[in-house]
Amino acid sequence: MATRSNIRDNLKRVRERMASAAARARRSEGCAQLVVVTKDQPIAAVCNAIDLGEIELGESRVQDLQERIASVGEFLARRSEGVHPGIHWHMIGHLQRNKVKTLLPVVHAVHSVDTLRLAETIDQQAARLNRVVPVLMEVNCSGEKQKNGVPVGAAECLAEQISTLRHVDLLGTMTMAPRVEDAEEARPTFVRMREIFEDIARSGRVGPGFRHLSMGMSQDFEVAIEEGATIVRVGSAIFA
Ligand SMILES: *Cc1c(COP(=O)(O)O)cnc(C)c1O
Repeated sequence: MATRSNIRDNLKRVRERMASAAARARRSEGCAQLVVVTKDQPIAAVCNAIDLGEIELGESRVQDLQERIASVGEFLARRSEGVHPGIHWHMIGHLQRNKVKTLLPVVHAVHSVDTLRLAETIDQQAARLNRVVPVLMEVNCSGEKQKNGVPVGAAECLAEQISTLRHVDLLGTMTMAPRVEDAEEARPTFVRMREIFEDIARSGRVGPGFRHLSMGMSQDFEVAIEEGATIVRVGSAIFA
């Protein structure tokens, strides 16, 4: 298991690599936000990341996320300073409609909205909680059959439909590149995502809040930032 100092060093290194990628693309240093993906990590490692100041955390399964929240809550309650950082949990994995009701009270944002029915379910539950939930629309840019995400050809239409819902705030799009050996092989997927994102943003069918591109993981976050990512979701490179 990664120790606290491993995690600290890894976080520093990931942020340096993010900054270098931004510089190469002549983007500003803070152009991309880091979501620390805690999935499959022991709770002690998650608590260390929180102690090191990370508050944007990602999980890919509803049940895991609920368990995390309970354990992290206990950890924070025991902590001597008693400070409770406002942690934002990001749901980054495939989401079933029957889990939305359990998820919404505890989640900050959902990165994986890929059908209108799912968006409508989030909208209904959000209305009951009297909140507006930030969401990203997941697009299957690589065309792999086993991948989640709306097909490229249906993306603009779905974005327009999601935008009409009053209790979700469509922040932009999310995509996952195929598993690759060399990060360069992920580049075409990210370029495609950015083009689709820009087409939708320019279409006039979505609001001004549509400005985020969630793309890039441990294997390829630098390439993603070079191609315009504003949110990267990184797990194993931090907890290695
Ligand atoms: C696991 C996961 C990540 C992070 O993957 P790493 O390779 O551990 O950085 C990012 N996004 C999604 C949707 C994931 O499921």
